[in-house]
Amino acid sequence: MSADERPNARRSEAGYFGPYGGRYVPEVLRSAIEEIEAAFFVAVEDAAFMAELEHIRADFIGRPTPLLHAANVSRLLGGADLYIKLEGYAHTGAHKINNAIGQALLAKRMGKRRVIAETGAGQHGVATAAACAKLGLECVVYMGAVDVDRQQPNVATMELYGATVVPVHSGSRTLKDAINEAFRDWAGSFGDTFYLIGSALGPAPFPDMVRTFQSVIGRETKAQLAERGVVPEALVACVGGGSNAIGFFEPFTADESPRLIGVEAGGIGPGKGEHASRMTGDGARTGIVHGYKSRFLLDDDGQVAETRSISAGLDYPGIGPELASLGRSGRVEFRRATDVEALEALTFIARSEGVVFALESAHAAAAAISLARSLRPGKAVVVNMSGRGDKDLFITAPILRPAEWKAFLERELAAINASEGAAK
Ligand SMILES: *Cc1c(COP(=O)(O)O)cnc(C)c1O
Repeated sequence: MSADERPNARRSEAGYFGPYGGRYVPEVLRSAIEEIEAAFFVAVEDAAFMAELEHIRADFIGRPTPLLHAANVSRLLGGADLYIKLEGYAHTGAHKINNAIGQALLAKRMGKRRVIAETGAGQHGVATAAACAKLGLECVVYMGAVDVDRQQPNVATMELYGATVVPVHSGSRTLKDAINEAFRDWAGSFGDTFYLIGSALGPAPFPDMVRTFQSVIGRETKAQLAERGVVPEALVACVGGGSNAIGFFEPFTADESPRLIGVEAGGIGPGKGEHASRMTGDGARTGIVHGYKSRFLLDDDGQVAETRSISAGLDYPGIGPELASLGRSGRVEFRRATDVEALEALTFIARSEGVVFALESAHAAAAAISLARSLRPGKAVVVNMSGRGDKDLFITAPILRPAEWKAFLERELAAINASEGAAK
């Protein structure tokens, strides 16, 4: 599949997608970013680099990921056939590893020995830590101190992969402060350090680069559909920063069909602070944040606003510039799904199909289900399951079976206290 990847390393025009994108960085980082840009566009034309990437994708990530015809769900809906790209079956449980491995391999090729990243919920940190362990690179992950406290399972996993997790105590002690800290580190370390950005955003060339590494999702899906002779009516993906969506859509964006639908987090409602909908929600506007121009949720002072969603991965105030542009032109349609709708879709598909979506991906599932219902039998809708739901047990279990889960945690804590007591 590497042969037809090269045309997919599309280069945006001077880093812009319509009015969005660009490279708004302090002067000190300009040469570091230009070095990455030059190395990336040479690497994707190099057959040896692409062959090594292909090899790791197969043996380490577990690609290609399957395309499932959700026959039971389709029958129950009574409309279009639903297909699920099971991207969450990739190593570390989500699509993020595609990008982490691609950029880490580039870092190695550039002679860097150290990789830094920032993470909110911890999923990008986990993927980066695994990629660095595989490729023999030192890994440092910046994480807001509040997120470190909330996301201990992911912190433990990153440390298991040998990464150093640095809690950030400045500002609101969440993702945006971790991003600032990572930029600060990089300004003093770019000689031997690569900054690995986790979604299709940030200063150019990161949106081009992340889209390229994630486009493997769309290319596989296109081939898998063609093998079965299925012509899809629509492709549906959830949108946080936008990397799984832009990678899934990439082989189709230049065509007029199929319909491409991005689903944002509708949270608990459409009001300010209740959601994370940058394309369709209240409080969304154009701004320049974290090195790029796009649509952001900002408050009246132009500061990054609070967002809300049951899914940590969609809970981000900005959207990647290319998706913002595709939304503006109308090529990508945007919808939102609420916390409740996502949870309903998740349990419906788990029970009828035996597949548990990540909470992020369940937003796409909710929109795909209502679209499939409205279409005639014989049509096909494809949803990207960007991640699997195992990681969300600490969120779903307290909602779905609160009393049992609370009793379980109390017993666990009592057992830890008792064994500590016995050791003294
Ligand atoms: C991080 C994450 C997302 C959101 O990120 P994008 O860059 O928008 O793809 C979606 N799904 C899962 C499972 C994630 O971990």
